[in-house]
Amino acid sequence: MAPRENLKIMITQTEIADRVSELALGIKERLGPEPPLVIGLLTGSFMFVADLIRALHTVGVNPEVDFMIVASYRDKRDHSGSVEIIEEPKVDVAGREIVLVDDIVDTGKTLARTVDIVLSKGATKVWTCALLDKPSRRDVKIEADFTGFTIENRFVVGYGLDDGGLYRSAPYIAIINSSG
Ligand code: 5GP
Ligand code: MG
Repeated sequence: MAPRENLKIMITQTEIADRVSELALGIKERLGPEPPLVIGLLTGSFMFVADLIRALHTVGVNPEVDFMIVASYRDKRDHSGSVEIIEEPKVDVAGREIVLVDDIVDTGKTLARTVDIVLSKGATKVWTCALLDKPSRRDVKIEADFTGFTIENRFVVGYGLDDGGLYRSAPYIAIINSSG
């Protein structure tokens, strides 16, 4: 079976590309004069980060780029309730302006926890940016400073987001259509 046969596209490649360009412009307007440090939360944000930093370059921002590895969902769709930090940033964040990038804000636990970590390591400012937001699922009171798309409470895949490790490579955001 072709990998896309059971996927129903929710946000197209073009819509994502247009929105990423807008996000980069919005971020540029808020940044200070020093080069920012973009920190992507792996694994889900890798594709978004790759596009966002190129969009930042296009609007004249030259960021340093690093990643943290965090785990919350594991291999299941239910949130485990805790956020595991597998790898912290390698670049020293002290005194830096950070743009923390994640794929989606769901319960908010991942973003809240990672913002705390980066601030505790001495970052002067942390901007948060998420491609997707599911506000109806929130446990922790947090909003990203920059949000690509607000979506209803559906489990989505593609553009870096997985279901049991699969579908990350889809260039769009989709819902899995279980009826086939
Ligand atoms: P939070 O800590 O906000 O509950 O969850 C954030 C993480 O949960 C995201 O980075 C993502 O890995 C995962 N997640 C939340 N909602 C979805 C979804 O609809 N699809 C996928 N594939 N992952 C999700
Ligand atoms: Mg994630």
